[in-house]
Amino acid sequence: MMKTPGKIWLIGAGPGDVELLTLKAVRALGEAQVWLVDDLVNPEIAQFALPGTRIIGVGKRGGCRSTPQGFINRLMARYARQGQVVARIKGGDAMLFGRGGEEVAYLQERGLSVEVVNGLTSGLVGATRAGIPLTHRDYTRGVTFVTAHAQDHSEPDWAALAATGTTLVIYMGMSRLSSIQAGLRAAGLPAEMPAAVIERAASPDERVLVTSLGLLAREAQLGGYASPAVIVVGEVVALATVREAELRRCWARCA
Ligand code: SAH
Repeated sequence: MMKTPGKIWLIGAGPGDVELLTLKAVRALGEAQVWLVDDLVNPEIAQFALPGTRIIGVGKRGGCRSTPQGFINRLMARYARQGQVVARIKGGDAMLFGRGGEEVAYLQERGLSVEVVNGLTSGLVGATRAGIPLTHRDYTRGVTFVTAHAQDHSEPDWAALAATGTTLVIYMGMSRLSSIQAGLRAAGLPAEMPAAVIERAASPDERVLVTSLGLLAREAQLGGYASPAVIVVGEVVALATVREAELRRCWARCA
């Protein structure tokens, strides 16, 4: 006889600090017998596991050793069919550049029960850590979350993005900072447009660089900024509260 299928919680763990987990996420984590965890998730999350929980790392960083998506999908389905409660845990929010939609579709097509729990996305948390109010109404009418990394390796439509006049929060952009800078400059944004990089937001080794669009790629390279980091471009970045401290640190490093 078939076992009653379990269910899958698709949980956004937020970036870095485990205190950014929602209460709902913590409750769902505590119900699950199996965890499938992405590698941007803070390992301290393990404190919320039931005793005996099977915790499986299924990281997939661009370019590095990775677990194929199809394998992760099959694992989730297999455990749920065995009647287990599965927690699929992703960094940030599972539905923002996290392939959450693809995993939900896969599970639903197989008649499995899946429920999504939002997490705080790294763009929001990173901006706040830097003191940047993403939609301050004196400066902009909105914010655009965009990935610099398209599946077909094409460039984002920088002209269209610049034309929105919204604050841009760019994910997965650290390996192509020069082309982001060039694209946005060519789209008419001035070299003086404030820009920031927030690396490892909300983790103990978080770093923030506040600069301008014209200096973005060079300063980030000098400071050794790397993935995972979000890039924020827009007038609101002028309000960043970390500016002085970071500039001093950068001068010390770059001198
Ligand atoms: N679902 C995630 C995004 C996954 S895509 C979210 O909502 O945050 C991976 C990208 O997210 C990275 O390339 C980087 O741009 C960003 N990112 C993830 N964790 C981060 C962190 N702690 N600090 C800054 N950026 C982060």
